[in-house]
Amino acid sequence: MNRKEFLKKSAGMILLGGLCLTGIAAEQVRSDKKYKVIPQRCNGCGHCYRSCRDQALTASNNKAVIDTNKCKGCGECTRYCRSMAIVESKR
Ligand code: SF4
Ligand code: SF4
Repeated sequence: MNRKEFLKKSAGMILLGGLCLTGIAAEQVRSDKKYKVIPQRCNGCGHCYRSCRDQALTASNNKAVIDTNKCKGCGECTRYCRSMAIVESKR
């Protein structure tokens, strides 16, 4: 295999690997998990609102509320809440 063929094959493999990782990441976004906000812990800072791509988080009386019909269970919002007010909801 010459240098040109090697570079061509390497580029193809890198592209394929990237596509696989993208697929895995997309798969991780959705889950059966549901989350809820513990109002006593929520200080209404609003950091979590921006984290939700599905607009499942809204404010009510200065507290975050999760619309369970819109929530896809990705858990992204939990990473943004410093008060640990967003927890997995046991169904
Ligand atoms: S990030 Fe946490 S404390 Fe801030 S509004 Fe959201 S749930 Fe409440
Ligand atoms: S778990 Fe994901 S979809 Fe559900 S409210 Fe949090 S960020 Fe939005």
